[in-house]
Amino acid sequence: MKDIRRSRVKQLLCGEITPEQQTVDVKGWVRTRRGNKNVQFVALNDGSSIKNIQIVFPLDTFSEEALKPITTGASIHVQGALVPSQGKGQSVEILAEELEVYGAADPAEYPLQKKGHTLEFLREKAHLRPRTNTFGAVLRIRHALAFAIHKFFNDKGFYYFHTPLITASDCEGAGAMFQVTTLPVKDAPRTEDGEIDYSRDFFGKMAALTVSGQLEGELGATALGNIYTFGPTFRAENSNTPRHLCEFWMIEPEMAFYDIRDNMDLAEEFIKYCINYALENCADDIAFLSEMYDKELVDRLRHVAGEEFVRLSYTEGIEILEKSGRKFEFPVKWGIDLASEHERYLVETHFRKPVILTDYPKEIKAFYMKLNPDGRTVRAMDVLFPKIGEIIGGSEREESYDKLIQAIEERHIPMKDMWWYLDTRRFGTVPHSGFGLGFERLVLFVTGMQNIRDVIPFPRFPGNCEF
Ligand code: ATP
Ligand code: MN
Repeated sequence: MKDIRRSRVKQLLCGEITPEQQTVDVKGWVRTRRGNKNVQFVALNDGSSIKNIQIVFPLDTFSEEALKPITTGASIHVQGALVPSQGKGQSVEILAEELEVYGAADPAEYPLQKKGHTLEFLREKAHLRPRTNTFGAVLRIRHALAFAIHKFFNDKGFYYFHTPLITASDCEGAGAMFQVTTLPVKDAPRTEDGEIDYSRDFFGKMAALTVSGQLEGELGATALGNIYTFGPTFRAENSNTPRHLCEFWMIEPEMAFYDIRDNMDLAEEFIKYCINYALENCADDIAFLSEMYDKELVDRLRHVAGEEFVRLSYTEGIEILEKSGRKFEFPVKWGIDLASEHERYLVETHFRKPVILTDYPKEIKAFYMKLNPDGRTVRAMDVLFPKIGEIIGGSEREESYDKLIQAIEERHIPMKDMWWYLDTRRFGTVPHSGFGLGFERLVLFVTGMQNIRDVIPFPRFPGNCEF
C-alpha cells in the first residue's frame, strides 16, 4: 500500500477530487459484488453518503483467490486510479491496484447478505441495521437535524442548558418514571411502617430518570433569558404505539418575557427551519427514502415548510370535530384529551396543514401552565402535524406565585419537592414560555418513516432492551 491519505466516498463522488488518473485510497464495507471472468465490480460504501463508489478489479491483476473474501458486508481497503466511469449510474470509479481485506463476512452467516429485508426484521438486527441504505439515510438525516437545532438556537442567542437526567421530583405528571436506586432489590431497608427506607438510598431520597428538563430549564431561562435543552428523557409508559419510545430525545426551549404568541411564532419558525435545513442538506437521503417508502415525502416537507400554520383554540377545534359528522373511536366532547385520530382529522382532513391548538381545559394540562381569565382553560399550545399528530407541546407558564400554588394544591402535588421551582416565582418572577419538541417525532416526519422505532439507533420500548 502506498502512503496516501484516505478519501471518503462522498468526496470522490461529488467531484471534489478530479479523475486525472490520480491514485486514491478508500476504506469501507462491500455492498455488492458482480462481474464476469475478466472483471469484477464491487460497490463500496463508507457511510459518508447513500451512494456507493464502484471499484473495478481486473482479473489479470487480481486472482480469484485474492478476491474471494470480497462478499457483502466485508470491510476492505483499496487503492487505485480514479477514472471516469464507463458504466451507467456513476461519473467516476476506481480501477483497483492494491487490496487489503480488514474483515471478511461469511455469506452463510452475515444477516444482511440479501437486500430488501423488512423493517421488522431489521429491528431484530438493530446492531447491524445502520449498515443498510435505509438506516444510513435515516441516521444521516437524524444527525443533520440535531445539528440544525443547535445552529438555529445558537444563531438566535439561546444558550444550551444542561438539565439533569437523574431527578428527585416527580411532579411533572408527564408519565411514569424509571426509578434509580442502589438499594438491594431483595432486602431493601424498611422503615418502621414497613415502607422502603429511601433515606438509606444513594441520594438519601427516591430518585428517577427525568421525564422532561423543563422545570430546571425554567431556572435557566429566568437567569440567562433564552435557553434550550436537548437531551434524552425517559418515560416508563406502556404505550406500544408507532409514536412512543421509553427513551427519547427532547428539545425544550424556555424563554423569559415570551408570551404564548411569541412562543407559537418561535415554534413555527423553528420547525420550518429544521425541515428546510434537511431539504437543503440531505437531498440524496430524502430522495432515497421517498423513492423506497413514501412518494409524497418531498412534497409534504415543502408544503409544511411553506404554509402558515393554522392557529385555533381547543374549543374551536372541538366544535369542528363535533360538526364533522365523523364517527371517531373516542367520542368528542369539550374536556376530552384529544386522541391522535382527532388531531389528524383537523390537520389532514379539515385544514390540510399544520395546526397549533391553544387554550386547553386546565384539567387535562400540567400545573405550570398559565390560567386564562376564564378560569377554566390554560395557555397551552400543541403543534399538530400530518402523519404525526402532536409534535410539540408547550405553554405560557404561570408566573403568579399564588395562582401556581393554587394549581399545585388542586392537583395534590407534594409541595416539599417543589420549593426550588417555586423560588422562581418568589424572586423576580417574569412572564415566560417554552415548549418541548420530541426529536424522534421530527425525524419521523422528515424521513417519512412509519414507526418511531426506526428513527433512533437503539430503540427502547416495553420488553426491548437487547442492543
Ligand atoms: P403524547 O400525548 O403524544 O403521548 P405528551 O403530551 O405526553 O405526548 P409532552 O409531555 O407534551 O408529550 O412532551 C413533549 C413532546 O415530546 C411531545 O409533543 C412529543 O413530540 C414528544 N413525546 C412525548 N412522549 C413521547 C414518547 N413516549 N416518545 C417519543 N416522543 C414523545
Ligand atoms: Mn403534550
